Amino acid sequence: MSLYRVCNCQATGCYRCAVDYVVRQFDGNPNCECRRRAGPFCIDCEARMYSDGRELIVEFGKATPPYRSLTSLYAGIAGSRGDSIEHAIIMDTKDRERAAANLLQSAEHDPLAHDALLRIVADCAKYGRLVPEQMREWAFLALTGQLERPKQKGKYPFATIDRDRAISTLISEVVQWRGLKATSADEERGTSACHAVAEGLGLLRLQPDSYSAVKRVWTQRRRRRPNPSFLRHLGSSDG
Ligand SMILES: [Zn+2]
Ligand SMILES: [Zn+2]
Repeated sequence: MSLYRVCNCQATGCYRCAVDYVVRQFDGNPNCECRRRAGPFCIDCEARMYSDGRELIVEFGKATPPYRSLTSLYAGIAGSRGDSIEHAIIMDTKDRERAAANLLQSAEHDPLAHDALLRIVADCAKYGRLVPEQMREWAFLALTGQLERPKQKGKYPFATIDRDRAISTLISEVVQWRGLKATSADEERGTSACHAVAEGLGLLRLQPDSYSAVKRVWTQRRRRRPNPSFLRHLGSSDG
């Protein structure tokens, strides 16, 4: 693996500068030793990429099985009143009860709703809180192995929504700020924004890192995406 060099010419349409732009958005160091081996990044890279205000990387974490960060986010969203959905965390008894009510029905068929309920039980155990009444029977059955987690064929369909939105934003920023075309007819050697984003993500060892996958995200960006069913009736709660 050769050393990654920043271009810095800042010329409109410079492909190298476009890749730099992508790498910079994550504050990643593509030359760190940890990129050359499998497994997690080093503490230094983790700290840089996950420092406050860098929510971009979080969207990629949410898209990765077993979806732990998505699960805790879901638990929070299901308990929120619809006003602060983005950064919801379960705060009080009422939030937990609301989350339980929203998640229980979906938990029969949605594995992450199931996981989010377990997360609520775990939080209650950790902080010495009461498990919401309506989910106590469910919690007993789930924890004693009498209730199976719903099966998921293939990827979890909702997991990549936020990540793909972040990728589309990156592509349009590269088009706008670095003056590249969004896509290119030359998949192999093209120098489009989708190529730059794919290369940048690859340098940061993030997925997707192929032109075809990044281009697919771009061409499908306006397609309506489904939401988990427990999110659909949010906002109608008492508050
Ligand atoms: Zn340049
Ligand atoms: Zn590192």
